[in-house]
Amino acid sequence: MDDSLRVSILSEALPYIQSFSGRKIVIKYGGSVMEEEHLKNAFFRDIALLSSVGVCPVVIHGGGPEINVWLNKLEISPKFENGLRVTDQKTMDIVEMVLMGRVNKQIVRGINNTGSLAVGISGLDGNLIQSRELGDGSHGLVGEVTKINPELLEPLIAGGYIPVISSIGSTQESISHNINADFVAGEIAAAINAEKLILLTDTHGILEEKDNINSLVKQINLKEARSLIERKIVNEGMIPKTECCIRALAQGVKAAHIIDGRIEHALLLEIFTDSGKGTMIMA
Ligand code: ADP
Ligand code: MG
Repeated sequence: MDDSLRVSILSEALPYIQSFSGRKIVIKYGGSVMEEEHLKNAFFRDIALLSSVGVCPVVIHGGGPEINVWLNKLEISPKFENGLRVTDQKTMDIVEMVLMGRVNKQIVRGINNTGSLAVGISGLDGNLIQSRELGDGSHGLVGEVTKINPELLEPLIAGGYIPVISSIGSTQESISHNINADFVAGEIAAAINAEKLILLTDTHGILEEKDNINSLVKQINLKEARSLIERKIVNEGMIPKTECCIRALAQGVKAAHIIDGRIEHALLLEIFTDSGKGTMIMA
């Protein structure tokens, strides 16, 4: 690439940088982008770049595959019902150790290596995520968010730190819950008045027809998003994603994006260009 092309690309990003500078963007980090070395490194650099140009990124993560690796090492067999992990106390101990210890600190280290500064916390810190048992309790210690107390995030963001949050919540009685990271991201985005919610996943976005990339839903409003769930076009793991986007938008977040984390620099493409690749849901 010659130098004039390089600067013209930078210059084209100016209006986007100006409109998002000082604004909060909540990003759910998950899927292959957590596992493949080149995607991970591009993601950490994207987060650092956002932060360097004055955007305030907040990262929420789960940790699916890594939890299973450690459960297997300890000879506890993972159990799923209706797509949710059945979480007994022994499993929850491992979930906490893996998410808050290993996965969270790997992300913090990755971002810090770029020269930006991340701070790793969980939903327990500052009572950030209050939760209760999901549904009838048949999934054990799987939780849903009852309240976000975002006070801890404000001084971190104001100080230029990038919060990296594990999706674990707690009841008033200090019982920990394992919570779907999409839901946590949506609720945190709403609680801190984020400009955008971005969910990175392993597929192109919402597809009208399974496996047909030409059927990608590029831009929809809240009503159309609800209809996709009602008409069962959105299924399985895409249901919590679409639902949490709807909830975040209904609470004032301006746009929610479900994007393909398998594309290198998917985040920058979505935020700093017109050619966003995934599904955008607007209020
Ligand atoms: P993540 O690990 O990022 O949370 P999930 O596997 O939980 O991802 O959810 C994404 C999956 O949802 C897709 O890989 C796909 O199998 C499924 N899915 C169901 N309905 C749709 C749809 N309409 N468009 C795209 N993916 C869908
Ligand atoms: Mg999922």
